[in-house]
Amino acid sequence: MNVLVTGGAGYIGSHAVKRLREAGHRVVVIDNLFRGHRAALASAKDVVFEQLDLRQTQPIADLLRRHQVECVMHFGALAYVGESVTEPLRYFDNNTGGTISLLAAMKDAGVKKIVFSSTCATYGQPPSMPIVETMPQSPINPYGWSKLFVERILKDVAGSDPEFCFAALRYFNVAGCAADGSIGEDHTPETHLIPVILQTALGQRPEVTILGDDYPTPDGTCVRDYIHVEDLVDAHAVVMAALRPGEQRIYNLGIGKGYSVKQVIESARRVTGCPIPAKIGPRRPGDPPELYANPQKIRQELNWQAKYTNIDDVVATAWNWFKQNPRGYPKR
Ligand code: UDP
Repeated sequence: MNVLVTGGAGYIGSHAVKRLREAGHRVVVIDNLFRGHRAALASAKDVVFEQLDLRQTQPIADLLRRHQVECVMHFGALAYVGESVTEPLRYFDNNTGGTISLLAAMKDAGVKKIVFSSTCATYGQPPSMPIVETMPQSPINPYGWSKLFVERILKDVAGSDPEFCFAALRYFNVAGCAADGSIGEDHTPETHLIPVILQTALGQRPEVTILGDDYPTPDGTCVRDYIHVEDLVDAHAVVMAALRPGEQRIYNLGIGKGYSVKQVIESARRVTGCPIPAKIGPRRPGDPPELYANPQKIRQELNWQAKYTNIDDVVATAWNWFKQNPRGYPKR
């Protein structure tokens, strides 16, 4: 299939490009390179890359036509919860407005299939765990709203065109790096737990700050569902293959099990053999105590489930990347 990957130079997008190429798809990438890395596509010589912003509707429509794109995988987005609270307009402009522009380009070019990166942040603070897809969605930050608005827009676009189809995949905590070490994770600023822990193991940070140890969880620290990035992009490929005209598919993508911050730090100590100093700090505003998925819907409907279920295996793939690329990708 001819697939456009938006945000294809980013962490998840670049892993999706790798997965799609390995499956024999023809891949076209757009990325504005605001936070993406051209070097993340260095080995993908056959991939068409254009530095475009999602809001450049007409150039995207032309690109879709030129390459006879049949499906869009839409990863391009800003994805820091804290930043979304201080700069909400930027999040709505990029994530919601950017997707409206992308959908307009698709309409213009007659492309009717999209797999969209949604998030468990659209659920907000659910009343119980694990989270099932039918639970109410009530985000607690602009990032979650910017993605929930897109889910709503996709439903209405689908309602206006019987051939349009979409999947909204609600990610839990995406982690790890390509098992072959070829691509990885490089964010600036870095705030995600596993990279922060591994940068501490490398001596680039003096310690990890555990953001609160007084949560109502077994060890007092927050619990999250860490899904390996290669499992996550594999699910995208499976969903894309299953998606038929007129369908709307919504799935949680998680492993169905949560690990606490302390458990993740312990895991990294085992995997790296480094002491990794940690101290307790204050809670981060907007952090729900526990988030983990019920992943049964995609398992039942598409016979798909995550292969990585042990946190040590996830951390080991990230450690492999961080050890070999302590400063991340070469910078432009
Ligand atoms: N966390 C932490 N110290 C850090 C970074 C994160 O204790 O330096 C915690 C954070 O409070 C959350 C969990 O680790 O409970 C995962 O955070 P991350 O930012 O990786 O993902 P999020 O759950 O916010 O999407």
